[in-house]
Amino acid sequence: MPGVTRSVWQSRKAAREACDVCIVGAGILGASTAWWLGKLAPRLRVVVVDARWPAYGASGRNAGFLLQGAVTDYVSDIRLYGIDRARALRTFTHENRDQLLAEIPTESFGFVPSGSLTVAGETEEEERLRESAALMDRDGFPAELLGASAVNTRLGSKDYRSGLLVPTGGMLNPAELVGQLIARSGATSHTHRPVLHVDADAVEGGDFRIAAGTVVVCAGPWTAELLPEAARFVRPVRAQMMALEPARPMTLDLPIYSHEGFYYLRPDPRGRILVGGARHLHREVEVGFRDATTPALQADLLDYARRHFPELARARKVTAWAGTMGFSPDGLPFVGRVPSGAYLATGFTGHGMAYGFRSGRLLANLVTGTEDPFAALFDPERPTAAASQCASD
Ligand SMILES: Cc1cc2nc3c(=O)[nH]c(=O)nc-3n(C[C@H](O)[C@H](O)[C@H](O)COP(=O)(O)OP(=O)(O)OC[C@H]3O[C@@H](n4cnc5c(N)ncnc54)[C@H](O)[C@@H]3O)c2cc1C
Repeated sequence: MPGVTRSVWQSRKAAREACDVCIVGAGILGASTAWWLGKLAPRLRVVVVDARWPAYGASGRNAGFLLQGAVTDYVSDIRLYGIDRARALRTFTHENRDQLLAEIPTESFGFVPSGSLTVAGETEEEERLRESAALMDRDGFPAELLGASAVNTRLGSKDYRSGLLVPTGGMLNPAELVGQLIARSGATSHTHRPVLHVDADAVEGGDFRIAAGTVVVCAGPWTAELLPEAARFVRPVRAQMMALEPARPMTLDLPIYSHEGFYYLRPDPRGRILVGGARHLHREVEVGFRDATTPALQADLLDYARRHFPELARARKVTAWAGTMGFSPDGLPFVGRVPSGAYLATGFTGHGMAYGFRSGRLLANLVTGTEDPFAALFDPERPTAAASQCASD
């Protein structure tokens, strides 16, 4: 049987364990799947194993935007995926939010029901927001179009042309959320256990082996290292952020997104302003797994923040960080079973918080053989023509 090989010198016996479901990776996907299995199938023995610790990856490094929709605006979703799929994707993200807020006490993960605002940095974006507002109204998704002065007065910003306020958006602390889901799941959680090999009925590391009725791989951009068949689903793309401490408290009170999602800002609970993006200016560098920031991209982020928020001219940079996202060819995740027999959830691009909790339910349903109306939406067997104009480029 293929697996981890050990030389005659590596005589240490592997620790053995058995469970019904073994989940590899304790990011938002692994944690959500564990939580839903705990709720829907409490008799199952579930083990979550992570190479580092819960929320070590992008799930603990992201901006904590809880957004609605697939890309940046409804018109872009429709252009990329067609009207039926765009509607289904938006409905999925609404369910993601509603079920998360209904199931997990919101104060335990710092949720702020602020709404979210997509602001138009360019004329073309302004037009898309206007069209999106009309189509969302038609399809029953709440949104409010704001003019330039309403946006800039509210944010204390300058030069935004308009904004689309989605009242059901919000912000949260993603690392706390993952921790809460694991703690409340009833699953056994192992940290510092890098999995080296995955079969349909076992996972194995250098010094452990876990036999499982079902194996679920939620290893984000690392998924292809464990399931070679996932190499066509996911590639590693880096994102960088920084935290700025303004000289005086700012009026910014909700997450904002501009330039097709390539720039984003939000306040944190201590009044610091978190800024991310600028990846489109450094595409060739912002790939792979290197956990490092770069002076050039950080300078572009600062420049963007100061250009639109005069209050940040004298802000102090407190810290900066990077995270690796799993990008898929069509900008949508993959959730389901692959031919080797394991289940996976990967390819969540820059939107894992928007999809993660509901995707955990979808995976729990697939694993337990329960019907789910969204079973086909993220099918790993779907054809994946490259989506050329989304923020997942
Ligand atoms: C800077 C940044 C900002 C972002 N902002 C947002 C945002 O505001 N809103 C939003 O919705 N999304 C955002 N995202 C995207 C979001 O963070 C991801 O889509 C999401 O976190 C992916 O979750 P995941 O569980 O699939 O993977 P991950 O969070 O990467 O988790 C994978 C886990 O698997 C573990 N693992 C890997 N290999 C192994 C192995 N061999 N054995 C055992 N364990 C293993 C890792 O240690 C890790 O803990 C952002 C991402 C970044 C980087």
